[in-house]
Amino acid sequence: MIATKAYAAQNATTPLGPFTLDRRDLKPNDVHIEIRYCGVCHSDIHQARNEWGGSKYPMVPGHEIVGRIVKVGDKVTKFKAGDLAGVGCFVDSCRSCPQCAAGEEQYCDKGMTGTYNSFERGTTTPTYGGYSNNIVVNEQYVLRVSDKLDLSAVAPLLCAGITTYSPLKHVGVGKGHKVAVLGLGGLGHMAVKFAASFGAEVTMLSGSPSKEADAKKLGAHNFILTSDKEKMAAAAGAFDFILNTVSAPHDYSAYLKLLKTNGTMIVVGIPPTPQAIPASDLIMKRKTIIGSLIGGIRETQEMLDYCAEHNIVSDVEVISADYINTAYERMLKGDVKYRFVIDTKTL
Ligand code: NAP
Ligand code: ZN
Ligand code: ZN
Repeated sequence: MIATKAYAAQNATTPLGPFTLDRRDLKPNDVHIEIRYCGVCHSDIHQARNEWGGSKYPMVPGHEIVGRIVKVGDKVTKFKAGDLAGVGCFVDSCRSCPQCAAGEEQYCDKGMTGTYNSFERGTTTPTYGGYSNNIVVNEQYVLRVSDKLDLSAVAPLLCAGITTYSPLKHVGVGKGHKVAVLGLGGLGHMAVKFAASFGAEVTMLSGSPSKEADAKKLGAHNFILTSDKEKMAAAAGAFDFILNTVSAPHDYSAYLKLLKTNGTMIVVGIPPTPQAIPASDLIMKRKTIIGSLIGGIRETQEMLDYCAEHNIVSDVEVISADYINTAYERMLKGDVKYRFVIDTKTL
């Protein structure tokens, strides 16, 4: 067993605190990664506070993991000790259903195994995430990480990065498209970078006036404050795509109005409660709403390689582990620029 320091939620209401756990001994196809940084995703808050239901405690959140491999199992072929590596939102899947065969393990028919808040496949052993200093993962679910980029800024690519890259690729965003990104947080800032990098004209839709200058620095061509009624009215019918990253309940209808005929809203934000969507908002101009969940291992590797080639990383605020509860409070106020990342040396 590998003794591991961590930060955990013991229940839905008390602050996270120090915790220790043992990682499993290496099986032949496992790699042991010493974690260096772990990004803080809004999904960590939703799950630590049981906002989606079914949370398992104690919970060690964290699914934006980067670090260095210290040991590999006898049958590992993809990695060796000393390599940089990453782990995202899942650590296993059934490996035989059509989705797994297609490399879209996140949509596994039997359910992916979450990096945390889940059980190791076929067991009652809980999985624990990246707010910790070690992790053991089957090599098929581990990503190669370039040494060209700042490692702390790479961590958020493992969830915020792939969650925005994947749907933008899926719908074919590129030159000539007008894309709006709704919500400038962890996912939103990566969405702006990718959509601009793919050649689209990007508009940031934000509720925070203070984020306008940053949105432009991140690559947005335009900025609309969502409380500005005149600007919102003027933007009716303007966009081919809206990537909706909002984490809290909000009025979908107000944003669907901004789509062109045949336009698509891509929903990635997961508010805890369902929202009403008037049928007429979809019908009158044949609009579509689609959802998208992170991305498969193959596409996550493609995204990491794309980022290394194009020098794309997350804008991060590196924090110590004991700052996590404050970081959560700041994220809930939209006060994040634009991803908190835990330095695991502080555990
Ligand atoms: P985040 O960093 O906290 O950013 C969310 C942003 O949404 C905020 O910064 C704010 O931006 C905006 N916002 C918050 N409350 C709002 C409200 N009531 N109305 C309008 N806008 C509001 O969160 P994140 O880590 O990017 O995650 C965003 C959501 O995506 C979460 O629900 C998370 O669980 C989900 N998620 C989904 C996937 C997936 O696979 N689909 C993966 C990861 C995360 P402004 O200040 O610009 O308004
Ligand atoms: Zn996430
Ligand atoms: Zn499967």
